[in-house]
Amino acid sequence: MANDKKNTKDKKPKFSPYWIYGIIIALFVGFHLFNNNTYQEGNKTTPSDFFKFLEAGDVEKVDIVKNTRVARVYLTKEAQEKEVHKNSKPTAFLTSTKLPNYKFEFGDLQNFENQLNEINKDLNTKPIISFDTETNDWGNLLMGILPFILLIGVWIFIMRRMSGGAGGGAGGQIFNIGKSKAKLFDQNTDVKISFKDVAGLEGAKEEVQEIVDFLKFPEKYTTLGGKIPKGALLVGPPGTGKTLLAKAVAGEAKVPFFSLSGSDFVEMFVGVGASRVRDLFKQAKEKSPSIIFIDEIDAIGRARGKNAMSGSNDERENTLNQLLTEMDGFGTNTNVIVIAATNRADILDKALMRAGRFDRQIFVDLPNLTERKAIFEVHLRPLKKAKGLDIDFLSKQTPGFSGADIANLCNEAALIAARTNKKAVEKQDFLDAVDRIVGGLEKRSNLFSVEEKKTIAYHEAGHAVVSWFLEHADPLVKVTIVPRGRSLGAAWYLPQEAYITRTNKFLDEICVTMGGRAAEQIIFNEISTGALGDLESVTKKAKAMVMIYGLNDKVGNITYYDPAGENGFVKPYSEKTAEIIDNEIKNIIETQFQRALELLTTKKDLLDKLANRLIEREVIFKDDLEELLGISPFKKSSTIVLEEE
Ligand code: ATP
Repeated sequence: MANDKKNTKDKKPKFSPYWIYGIIIALFVGFHLFNNNTYQEGNKTTPSDFFKFLEAGDVEKVDIVKNTRVARVYLTKEAQEKEVHKNSKPTAFLTSTKLPNYKFEFGDLQNFENQLNEINKDLNTKPIISFDTETNDWGNLLMGILPFILLIGVWIFIMRRMSGGAGGGAGGQIFNIGKSKAKLFDQNTDVKISFKDVAGLEGAKEEVQEIVDFLKFPEKYTTLGGKIPKGALLVGPPGTGKTLLAKAVAGEAKVPFFSLSGSDFVEMFVGVGASRVRDLFKQAKEKSPSIIFIDEIDAIGRARGKNAMSGSNDERENTLNQLLTEMDGFGTNTNVIVIAATNRADILDKALMRAGRFDRQIFVDLPNLTERKAIFEVHLRPLKKAKGLDIDFLSKQTPGFSGADIANLCNEAALIAARTNKKAVEKQDFLDAVDRIVGGLEKRSNLFSVEEKKTIAYHEAGHAVVSWFLEHADPLVKVTIVPRGRSLGAAWYLPQEAYITRTNKFLDEICVTMGGRAAEQIIFNEISTGALGDLESVTKKAKAMVMIYGLNDKVGNITYYDPAGENGFVKPYSEKTAEIIDNEIKNIIETQFQRALELLTTKKDLLDKLANRLIEREVIFKDDLEELLGISPFKKSSTIVLEEE
C-alpha cells in the first residue's frame, strides 16, 4: 500500500501560479510608488493665486499639459523660502528630477494664454513656459491594462488548477483539460498487490482470476473461438475491497493499470468528460494488454434520461454515451479490460450492464465470519500481537464490519496499545477499538446530575432487560452509561449474521429499542428527550416493514422501494394508502412500546437491580447480567461467544 502512495503522488508544477500573482502585485505596488513620486504634481492651487505668484516674480517655470488642462508650477529657489510657499515644497523620493510646487486647472487654454502673456510682458525675469509637457502616458497605459493582466492571471491560475495532475506526464498545462486524469501503474510503478493481500472474497477472486488468465494467455481462449470479456463490474458495500481486488488483478497479470474515479471525468465544461473517456481508451490501447479501473462508476453511469431539467446531467450523459461507445468500439483483440466498481448497481444505466460491456457482475459482499478471520490475519501481520491473541474471538466480535473497518480496527488497537506504552497489542485493546469505532470517542468528562445519571441508567437497563427476555432480540454483550459519541449510554448487542429477517425479529428489535423509554415511563412516570436515537431507529425499521418488505397485513404484499429515486417528489401511492401507511407505522411502534411496558412492569425488580448496578459501576458485562437477571432463556449463541470474555 505504501508503494501505491508513492506511485500516485502528483508531480508538482515547476512554476507555481502564485509567482504570477507575486510579480503582478509587486509591479502594481512598485509602479504606484514610482508614479506618485516621480510625477508628483504639486499642491493644488487656483489660477488667480498662480497669477499673483507670477506677478510677484516667484515662478521659474510653467508646464502646460493641454490634454488634461493642468498646469504645473515650479517656483524659483528664493520664492520657495518665502513664508507663503512654506508648504509647497515637494518631497522627492527615488528621483532627482525637479518636482513642481503647484498644480492647477487652467480651464480655457486661449484665455489662460492671453492672461499669461499679459502679465509676462511686464515681468523682468520671465518664467519658462513649456506647452504639451509629456503626461505620464506609459503610466496611464499600464494602469489601463493592469486589470486585464490580473484577469488573465486568474484565468491561467484556474486552468492550471483544473488540468493539474492530468495524465500522460503533461500535467499542469491548460490544454490538458480534455486529457484523461487516470493514474497509471505499470512496470515502472509496479503494482505490488497480489491475490494473497486480498483476504476472503473467494468467489470474487475466482471470477477475476479468469480475467488475469485472459490477459496473460489470450490465445488459450481465442483459439477456441471465445471472446475475451470487455468488462467486469464489482458491486458491493463500501470498504469491502473492490479497489483492492482490481489492483490485485493488475498485480497478478502484470499489466499496466489505469486507475481513476467516475467523478474524474466530470468537469464544468461541456464535452470534457467525453474527451477524457476517448483519451483514456486511447492511452490504454497504446499500452495494451492493460486494465482500466473506474471506481465509483455511478458518478457517470447513472441511468440516463432523468432530471432532464438540469444541464449538468447532459454533460454526464455525454460522458456515459462516450464510455458506451468506447466499450463497443475497441475490438476484442485489443486486450483492454475495464473493471468498474460501485456501491449502487441498482442505479446504473441498463446499457452499461448489458452483455458485451460489463458482461460480468461480481458481488463483493460484507465478509462473513471466516472471511473476517482471514482479513484479520492480513492486517494483523504488521502488528506486534500479544501471545495467544485469539483471532476467532475478534472475528466473532465484529459482525457487519467491512474489510476497511477491520483494517481500521487493527490500526486503532495498535494506537490504543501504544498510548498506554504496551509492548504488544492485546485483546482488550481490540475490544476498546471496537467500542471506539462503533460508539465513538468516550467522553468521561461529561458531567451529569444525579437525576440525569439515574434516568440514563434506567433507560439502558430498560433496553437490557427487554432484550434479555425476547427470543429474537440480538444477544446482549454489555451495558454502559459512559457517554460515547452522540449517545449518553449504550446497550451493546452482538448481531446475529443472517441473510433474511422475519417479522418477529423486526418486532422484537423495535420492542427492545422502545424498552429504554418504557423504563423511564414506569420509573419516573414521564419520558425524556434521551430517546431520539431510539425513535429514529424504530421509525426506520417500522417504515421498512410496511413500505419496503411487505411485512404488513394492511398494506399488503407490495413494495414502494425506490432506490434510483425514479419517483422524484411524486408518491407512488394514493392518499388513502398514505394514510394506511402512516397508521400502520405508528401502530407497530405503539404496540411494541406497550409490549415493552408490560414486560418491564412484570420485571421491575430486575430493572431496579440492573439500574442500581449501572449507577454504581457505569459498565456491566454479560457475567453481571447473568448474575442479576438469571440465565437468559434464549441467548445460547451469545453464551458461546462471550464465554471467552
Ligand atoms: P469503496 O467502495 O468505498 O471505494 P472499496 O470496496 O473499493 O471501497 P477498498 O478501497 O478496496 O474498498 O478497501 C479499503 C481498504 O480495506 C483496503 O485498502 C484494505 O486495507 C482493506 N480491505 C478491504 N477488503 C479487504 C480484504 N478482503 N482483504 C484485505 N484487506 C481488505
